[in-house]
Amino acid sequence: MKHHEDDERYRPPFSCRMCGQCCYGEGGITVEDGEFERIASFLGMEPEAFRASCCEMRYRGLSIRCDEEGKCIFFEPGRGCRIHPVKPRRCAQWPFYPALLNDRAAWAEAMDACPGINQSCSHEAFISQGIKGRGPEVD
Ligand code: SF4
Ligand code: SF4
Repeated sequence: MKHHEDDERYRPPFSCRMCGQCCYGEGGITVEDGEFERIASFLGMEPEAFRASCCEMRYRGLSIRCDEEGKCIFFEPGRGCRIHPVKPRRCAQWPFYPALLNDRAAWAEAMDACPGINQSCSHEAFISQGIKGRGPEVD
């Protein structure tokens, strides 16, 4: 018998499948002011040591380093994000970015990249879930 959680109809418009697809950092996993110290502290590292070993400059600014495959160094297969409680805001807000909330085509396109977005749900339902849990917006 199929469990409800395996059935698309019973899943919310978004629920993370822990696949790690969104943890590829081509666009830069930007670390904002205040996040830098918070992540370093969570890892028990001095800020400068954290910057030197875990960060790099990308076009958007200071970002979390990626491995040779392009995946964020904090992604651990089977476990997910190793800094989940303090992860950057950009990560915490995915996939509820304004671009996906405001643009149906962008939301539909994002389904190819994120299996956590439920293809059985409407864009309106996705927006509703996003608005309920939304923090400060990212660009
Ligand atoms: S791509 Fe989607 S389902 Fe996969 S880890 Fe990221 S948010 Fe979760
Ligand atoms: S910080 Fe965490 S959520 Fe963000 S890209 Fe890295 S592993 Fe993924």
